[in-house]
Amino acid sequence: MRFDAAVIGSGPAGATAARLLAQAGWSVALIERAVFPRRKVCGEFISAATLPVLEACGVATEFRAQAGPAVHTVAAYSGATMVQAPLPHGRVGWGRALGREHLDVLLRDAAVSSGAMLFQPAEVVAIARQAAQHTLTLRRVNTVDEIDARTVIAACGSWNTQGPFAAAMSARPSDLFAFKAHFRGAAMAAGVMPLLAFPGGYGGMVHTDGGRVSLSCCIRRDALRQAREIHSGKAGEAVMRHILASTEGVRRTLQGAMVEDAILACGPLRPGIRSRYRDGIFFAGNAAGEAHPIIAEGISMAIQSSWLLAQHLLADGPAAGPNYARAWKCQFAARVHAASLFAWLAMNNHRRAAAAQLIRAFPAILTWGAALSGKTLGVRHDAT
Ligand SMILES: Cc1cc2nc3c(=O)[nH]c(=O)nc-3n(C[C@H](O)[C@H](O)[C@H](O)COP(=O)(O)OP(=O)(O)OC[C@H]3O[C@@H](n4cnc5c(N)ncnc54)[C@H](O)[C@@H]3O)c2cc1C
Repeated sequence: MRFDAAVIGSGPAGATAARLLAQAGWSVALIERAVFPRRKVCGEFISAATLPVLEACGVATEFRAQAGPAVHTVAAYSGATMVQAPLPHGRVGWGRALGREHLDVLLRDAAVSSGAMLFQPAEVVAIARQAAQHTLTLRRVNTVDEIDARTVIAACGSWNTQGPFAAAMSARPSDLFAFKAHFRGAAMAAGVMPLLAFPGGYGGMVHTDGGRVSLSCCIRRDALRQAREIHSGKAGEAVMRHILASTEGVRRTLQGAMVEDAILACGPLRPGIRSRYRDGIFFAGNAAGEAHPIIAEGISMAIQSSWLLAQHLLADGPAAGPNYARAWKCQFAARVHAASLFAWLAMNNHRRAAAAQLIRAFPAILTWGAALSGKTLGVRHDAT
């Protein structure tokens, strides 16, 4: 089988790219190794600035119908500090959160309804390039197939340990491990999104679909080890106890709340900017670059980066690589750097205490930080 484009991964980045290229008339293969619906470690918040791309993908109405309440207030919980401030208002309203077991299905189905051919579950295990053609080897349940494509988009996320984009990683104390849980019965006002900063890590809480509150967080490898020495249970349980023990705002919010389903874990994460184009392959979403989740912008960046990539591919075809790589940097590098700065402030005890003192005195810093992290930035095609 031969396609104009093969898209590896049907997370927000891959499904968006597949949808936009298929609706422009390209023949597209969308390849996803996981079975959907699946839960995922993620805070699930999507900035309002991404709504125009959801419109372009034909899923905005369904997104609004399913997602949690509009988020208009940002808060900071650290130790005994609890401060809140308005979120900056985007041109298209407020962001909302939707569980990944719903969002990823919506976006995948939108790609399929535009004509993309879905291979799921199927894992891309090898890619070979010959002149202007790529051959992808797909491992399925009982078979191994090959497909050919003129353009390959790697939208396979960030923490691949196997396959053609596997990253070799030696353990570092600063490696981040991520956890996520859904709670029912949490005492949190609708529309508020607290940012959490606790010893060795950071996180966030938000109302998501179905009356649930999601709590997601990242913690350094060394801090996780200490938390597990102090608190009992599996890693996820020890981390939740660590956050509850250190953060008054979380204690008040979750008093009497019940965890729904298992606490999910993943990692290690290494946020940063990666190749956007290499050896004839285009990278989108986390595979191209990943901001510390402290700014809750990864889904938005994934969807927006695929919109940007689709515009470049439709204009220039496979020659779009260098321009797309430049445009990506223009559009997203500032968010990645701002997120690194916030994570640096949050994860060290002295810096976190100083930042909390400053935010208590000037809550508007929270509004400014949210704007800096891209909450109101739409994607621009002229950003080359
Ligand atoms: C703790 C935490 C909280 C977060 N909170 C938020 C938040 O509130 N808001 C926000 O915007 N972002 C948040 N993020 C970031 C967000 O989850 C990611 O940025 C987003 O999922 C990236 O989307 P993606 O499509 O690039 O990759 P992914 O969502 O990771 O999708 C990649 C897909 O590719 C598939 N795949 C991988 N390799 C292969 C292969 N070889 N063959 C076939 N399929 C393959 C995978 O199965 C996966 O489904 C958070 C992240 C963490 C860790």
